[in-house]
Amino acid sequence: MARIFCIANQKGGVGKTTTTVNLAAGLAKVGQRVLMVDLDPQGNATMGSGIDKRTLQTSVYDVLLESASVAEARARSDKLQAAGCGYDVLGANRELAGAEVEMVELERRERRLRQALAEVDADYDFILIDCPPSLSLLTLNGLCCAHGVIVPMQCEYFALEGLADLVNTIKQVHANLNRDLAIIGLLRVMFDPRITLQQQVSDQLKARFGNKVFDTVIPRNVRLAEAPSYGVPGVVFDPASKGAQAFVAFAQEMVARIETL
Ligand code: ADP
Ligand code: MG
Repeated sequence: MARIFCIANQKGGVGKTTTTVNLAAGLAKVGQRVLMVDLDPQGNATMGSGIDKRTLQTSVYDVLLESASVAEARARSDKLQAAGCGYDVLGANRELAGAEVEMVELERRERRLRQALAEVDADYDFILIDCPPSLSLLTLNGLCCAHGVIVPMQCEYFALEGLADLVNTIKQVHANLNRDLAIIGLLRVMFDPRITLQQQVSDQLKARFGNKVFDTVIPRNVRLAEAPSYGVPGVVFDPASKGAQAFVAFAQEMVARIETL
């Protein structure tokens, strides 16, 4: 059975997409079968996984509107495969923004992705869903099929405040739509230990959320930011970099963690 995780945070630019593609590559590197679903119309996770969003024939949009199955719409980058980090991609592009409007009329509109993913459940160990920076119907579709949410966060002053909104949304989805849903963990990203404030917020997070805070910390590392322009995750772009190594460690932590779930 595939374990399904949403990478979510309603703030933009906090590292959701970077986390999704590098965790996907890291999990593939340690031998896991992975599907990455891009639920953001910006299509950054698609591009960052080596799939050109501009030439996508079928995408997650078609899957949500039931004009294609996941098996028909998924793709895999040869470059990632050759690097030993291959994973399947259910891609997105601007077309997906329209799905939001078109789905409003439909029945079971929050459960469309869940139904579609059920058909490929046996093909994967992990399904990772990159969510857009909003609590929209697209995000709801992601939360509806997930076993857990991974929340990337920067250790900054307002981080805890934003977290309260997300925790409330997750509680509501848990109560009304998906009894399996839980926050699996908070991932500290773009971390710079030299900044005292970041260290303080990190300590607060641990005091308040305990073992919900992942042990792995993702450092601020320019190689992770450079990788997308080459159409690969940092884990593939520069495996020796601090950022890549942190994401492989995080993949190992995730594998260990799901064994205890
Ligand atoms: P989101 O998906 O939440 O909008 P992104 O993953 O796109 O966030 O990250 C926002 C920006 O920060 C991108 O330019 C990305 O390359 C950069 N970035 C993300 N994580 C790191 C990191 N650990 N070190 C350096 N830059 C990072
Ligand atoms: Mg993103």
